[in-house]
Amino acid sequence: MRVCLLASGSRGNSTLVEADDSRLLIDAGLSGKETERRLAHLGLCCDDLDAILVTHEHHDHVGGIGPLARRHQLPVYIDSITCSALPRLGKIPQLHEFNAGDSFSFRNLLISSFSTTHDAVNPVGFTIESQEGKIGYATDLGMPTRLIAESLRQCRVLILEANHDEQMLLNGTYPWALKQRIRSRHGHLSNMEAHRLLNEVGWPGLEALFLAHLSDENNCSNLVSTLFHQALQQKGCRAEVIVGCQAMISVCFGSETAAVLQENSHKKVTEL
Ligand SMILES: [Zn+2]
Ligand SMILES: [Zn+2]
Repeated sequence: MRVCLLASGSRGNSTLVEADDSRLLIDAGLSGKETERRLAHLGLCCDDLDAILVTHEHHDHVGGIGPLARRHQLPVYIDSITCSALPRLGKIPQLHEFNAGDSFSFRNLLISSFSTTHDAVNPVGFTIESQEGKIGYATDLGMPTRLIAESLRQCRVLILEANHDEQMLLNGTYPWALKQRIRSRHGHLSNMEAHRLLNEVGWPGLEALFLAHLSDENNCSNLVSTLFHQALQQKGCRAEVIVGCQAMISVCFGSETAAVLQENSHKKVTEL
């Protein structure tokens, strides 16, 4: 298993998930060219991808979908109402529509969608279950609901929105209407709301917690990192905390293990 946030924030979101020999993008908010450039840091190119999953129609999640799907013949899995809200998506060669709440198979993976209350036409989060464990993806959440908490139980890897610090948002320079939208039940999750959600879904089997969609202006990665390290410690959970950002790919979950394995196998060969 390997998970990496290629980009995370209000100017573009895209997450690489590798499990059971399948390689998915959750959202494609970067341009095709930038997606290719960031995948190259992981030793991959767009032709190595197998499919794209879409959470909702906001531009920071879908900007690159059309070009990527057409150029690289990638199947796109998208809620049918979200799809109808994207008339400018263009022709997608392999379009698979589902209804929010549906589960479906992709090769050996079981992909389940769950509704969120974000201000899009029919937004969803995803869980991806494989032989290697369960991955939960939950950003642009609006508010933490029972359905979201139930969906995210027993994940090995969790990608969770921690958009803003309440005080930084309130004291910041955004116009009041925008502050209200972000704080509303249809906006983005604050650090404290994410913290409460983690308290419900954190468990000893959690190995990596990615914090995603951080606001550049109203949050601070050090603050988030400290807050969630403490939260995990209190739950007796040793998961790695990885904070995503806009400008570059995140630390990978899984890659270090792979690198160590490679190094060890190389050592063995040279020792022999
Ligand atoms: Zn977003
Ligand atoms: Zn959004």
